[in-house]
Amino acid sequence: MAAEAQRGFNWIRKSPMAGSARQTEIWTLEPEGISHDVKVTAGKPLNLSEVKRNWSFRRELDKCESLREFFDELGSFEHFTSCPVCKADFAAAKPEVKIWRSTYYECSSCRHLYVDLRPTEKALSEYYSKNPLGNTIYTTCDEIDLRIREIYRPKALWAIECYREVYGRDPQSVLDLGAGSGHFLKSCSDLGLAAEGVEIDETSRAWCEKSFGITLNRSFEELSETGRKFDLVTSFNVIEHLVEPGRILENCRRFASERSLSVIETPRYNSITCALQKIFPSRIRGYMFPYGHIQVFSDASFATLLHLHKFRPTHAWYFGQDAREIFFQIGSELSAEADEGAARNFEGLQHEIDQLGLSDLMIIAAKAT
Ligand SMILES: [Zn+2]
Repeated sequence: MAAEAQRGFNWIRKSPMAGSARQTEIWTLEPEGISHDVKVTAGKPLNLSEVKRNWSFRRELDKCESLREFFDELGSFEHFTSCPVCKADFAAAKPEVKIWRSTYYECSSCRHLYVDLRPTEKALSEYYSKNPLGNTIYTTCDEIDLRIREIYRPKALWAIECYREVYGRDPQSVLDLGAGSGHFLKSCSDLGLAAEGVEIDETSRAWCEKSFGITLNRSFEELSETGRKFDLVTSFNVIEHLVEPGRILENCRRFASERSLSVIETPRYNSITCALQKIFPSRIRGYMFPYGHIQVFSDASFATLLHLHKFRPTHAWYFGQDAREIFFQIGSELSAEADEGAARNFEGLQHEIDQLGLSDLMIIAAKAT
């Protein structure tokens, strides 16, 4: 790994100049000449005014600010000394933007973005024990149907379709790593899959059991003891929080059935949202918030992570909420109330951004080799 990191990971993307909502790209690692055909989907409909009806920009800013205050007051940080993806030395990384006490650096070898200073594991567990993931955005009872319809069912359908294209049959089972409140598993279960999850947060596990009747495993060890393997192994918006992101892929491999596909979602650096947050680092409401997202994947660094862990990408889906970030940042510059304009214009503007390939979220499907 060290020799490769020194040489750098030079990914070339070949795609049709006349882009479309669904097309095949070729991702090649040079000079090795390793190529992958990747089926790419751009854009995802989202009823933003409904999904964000309880989350104004002000509320999102305040939530981020209280997280910042907690960690700054605790003052318990540690350093990355090398790139979490390719292990290239931190000394060769380039500072990109300072947000709060941390600076995001870009790895010169694989183009991964990661912070110099991150909260210690102890500080993180202290924060999450006082602020369980389960009591905020994802677990409002009257929004279950809405969130499943708008967010989770489309992802379940996409993952199933990718699996069919790779293996020519329907997947029978799914394991979600970091299952949170269980909306995704509920969607999979409704579509006929045997659904299993791992979630360390007790509050989320209890909520999932109560709301969906799905019992989540407390740990990988607990699940490992059952010896069960899965056709789909998924993970949504977890990997960017991990000190060792490769662990996700190790677990994908560990629980993979003979014909398994891994599906991972994460924020995307090559996006309008991250570009705006670099320009306006004093207004952060997600994505590049260094005490939670200790790293942000670029297309190249995600491809590198897969390569180093011997996975082959088969599908990619790009979509997001960049249009909202545009309204928020420009509205703030003009001291204007931007929530309403963002909701009114979101769909059309986001559609164009997705087609241009500048969306702030990506889901990658990959197969172990
Ligand atoms: Zn790197």
